[in-house]
This record gives sequence, structure tokens and C-alpha cells, in this order.
Amino acid sequence: MKLKHPISTLVFAVMFVVMAALPAMASAAGSIVQDVRLWTAPDHTRLVFDLSQSIKYKVFRLHKPERIVIDLHNAKLKARFNKLAIPDPVIKAIRHGTPKANILRVVMDVKEKVQPRSLLLKPMQGKPYRLVIDLMRPQKQQAAAITAEKSSHKGIVIAVDAGHGGEDPGAIGPRKLREKDVTLAVAKRLAKIINAKPGMKAVLIRKGDYFVSLKKRVYLARRAQADMMISIHADAVRQRSVKGASVYTLSERGATQDRAARALAAKENAADEVGGVGADEIYDSQVNKILSDMFRRDSLNSAQILAEEMLHKLKGAGPIKYGIPKRARFFVLKAMEIPSVLVELDYISNPARERKLKSRKHQQKLATALFDASIRFFEKMGRLKSKQDRASGQQQVLSLLNANAN
Ligand SMILES: [Zn+2]
Repeated sequence: MKLKHPISTLVFAVMFVVMAALPAMASAAGSIVQDVRLWTAPDHTRLVFDLSQSIKYKVFRLHKPERIVIDLHNAKLKARFNKLAIPDPVIKAIRHGTPKANILRVVMDVKEKVQPRSLLLKPMQGKPYRLVIDLMRPQKQQAAAITAEKSSHKGIVIAVDAGHGGEDPGAIGPRKLREKDVTLAVAKRLAKIINAKPGMKAVLIRKGDYFVSLKKRVYLARRAQADMMISIHADAVRQRSVKGASVYTLSERGATQDRAARALAAKENAADEVGGVGADEIYDSQVNKILSDMFRRDSLNSAQILAEEMLHKLKGAGPIKYGIPKRARFFVLKAMEIPSVLVELDYISNPARERKLKSRKHQQKLATALFDASIRFFEKMGRLKSKQDRASGQQQVLSLLNANAN
């Protein structure tokens, strides 16, 4: 079957008959494509296939016009493509066919030359086998976006990191409220408040419902030359009565003594596995090793002060779980030169708190608390002096990032 045109209903019907006539082949240890999802990020579009079992596949490009082709061996399509939000910034159209009896071919017409990247994820956390196809947009456009983002902002830059996203929903409340939606809502509100303040600028690490790896979050904060970073989350535990906010900083070396904090860090750090991070995704992790010890200590101390301010302000917005900041090895807090904290807004597993987290009014209250704490922090730090000190460190980091990019 040729694939030059979208498959018409008639062709689809014929194909269905052909497949029905060959039941032995379709069922012979084949994989069923149960579902398909599409996530649009600024630098790529991600397509995810849910599979009933592992699969052999091939991804390749065709030119004039630009197309990305995915050949799935011994696969049967149950999912529907027409539910996807297409066209998106990368994909113009999507269609499928069976060029050979045992090949299910998915063809995407793309708007520009994109680099495909794929990974097959094993079942985990209730998710089946997943085939992830990332269509990476050209570097040129990404570079333009970076330049625009950097602009010539001389004031305070705050990286606002909404936890989870895309394939990774984070924790889910009893009424199905998803952590990734709460974190993004609060992050956007916080960014709005920050941007309304002269001399301050927010950089949203995640702008929509798509997955960003933990390393990339750190990289994006560094690239924006952020003066601080807030990573926003909402926790869940089995016991539904548990409630309240908590704030964490990075514990750099060795095991964390606090078992609960360690378990939480392990849970948050698993985001990469749930969300699907490609092995070829490289963001420099060497930077930390090179930064001087003194510089790291300094930054960890500021993070502690920031965390205390956060707790203090969050007390006015709702219940608190732990009255003092805790430490654990959160990957997302690893930009040592940027004072970084991770805030668990509340427990989404508590039905009453879930309702609160969903309310816009409460989201605004939380965002305001985070903002007020940030202001207090910069006041306490004697902002101008600390900016100067940090400048040399940032210069160091930037040159390392640039060296890595070349
Ligand atoms: Zn989380």
C-alpha cells in the first residue's frame, strides 16, 4: 500500500478486512498499540504509543516532503490517531498503513527537518510498554529562543519549575487531580506575580503539559542565569489524613538521615523513568564537580535561608507538615551555584487538601506566599552584593556549558 495520501475510510475498511482475514498473523505474538498520546514541548514534539508487549521497530526520515516513518513489526493498531491535537508545531499530519503484511507503518508529515529520537520504555508504575518518539526541532530555532529568553535582563531572575508533566502525571488525588496540573497552575501564577514586579523576571522551566527531564530542568535554570530556583510539587501518601506543606534543599553528600525525606527524593527522582528520558539526552553534569567547594557551601547556606523564608510565608497560606526545612538528594536541585528549593505545597492525597489545591483562589494564595518569601530572601541576602559574588560563578558555569555545547 502506498502512503502518499491520507488513508481514506474506504482504504481503511479494506485494510481492516485484510487484517481480519489474517487472524493468525495478527495474533501470533504481536503487540497491540492500545493508545497513543502527543505532547508538544517548545523544542520537540513527543509521540507515545502504549503497547501490549515489547516490540521491534524502526524509525527513519524521508525527504521532499519531510516525513518521519515508524515501522512497527507484528503490531496491531487499536489506538486512534484522530484524537491527537494535530497539526501541532512540528507535525502536519499523521497516517498509517501496512506496506508489508507484518509491518504497521505510521507516517508523519512534518513542517521542518526534525531529528527523530526514540526509546522503548519497560512497564512501570501501572504503565505498559511504551514506545516514545521525540521529534527534535532544529537547533537553529532553539538557539533563537535562548537569545530571546536571555535578552539583556539585569535584574533578578527566578526559575520557576513546575514538577512533572507530559507522560509523568506525578501524584494523583482521590478525585483524580493530577500533581502536574497543580504545579503548572501555581508556577504560572507565581511567574505572573514575579513578572509584574519591576526588576524581576520569571523563567518558567516547563510552560505546558510536556515532560522535561530533571537534568534539563537544571540546565534550563542555568541557561537563564537564574538567581534562584523554586521547584513546585504536591506530595501523596497512603494515609489520607496527612496534610501540609514542606520545603526541601539539596543534601549534597552521603545518605540523608531522614528516612521520609530520602523516600520522597527517591520518588521525585523517579520522574525521569516515568516520563521517559532518552539515553542520548546530554546536559552537562560535570559543572558541579568543577565549582569550588567554598562556592557550593555558600549556595547551600543561601538555599537554607530561602527554605526557611518559604516555610515562614507558607504558614500563612495553609497547614505545614514539617516546621523546618529538610534535606535530601533531589536531582532537580543540583545547580549548586543557584539557591534552589523544592516545595511540596500540600498532600494531594488528602481529599480536603486536594479540593484546596484545585481552587484558583488557593493557588493564588500559595503563589503569593512563594513570591513574598523570595522577596524576603533577596532582601536578606543584600541582593546587590550577592549578585556580584555570584557573577563570577555564573561566568564559570556559562563557559562550561558553552564548552560542552561545542
Ligand atoms: Zn512531585
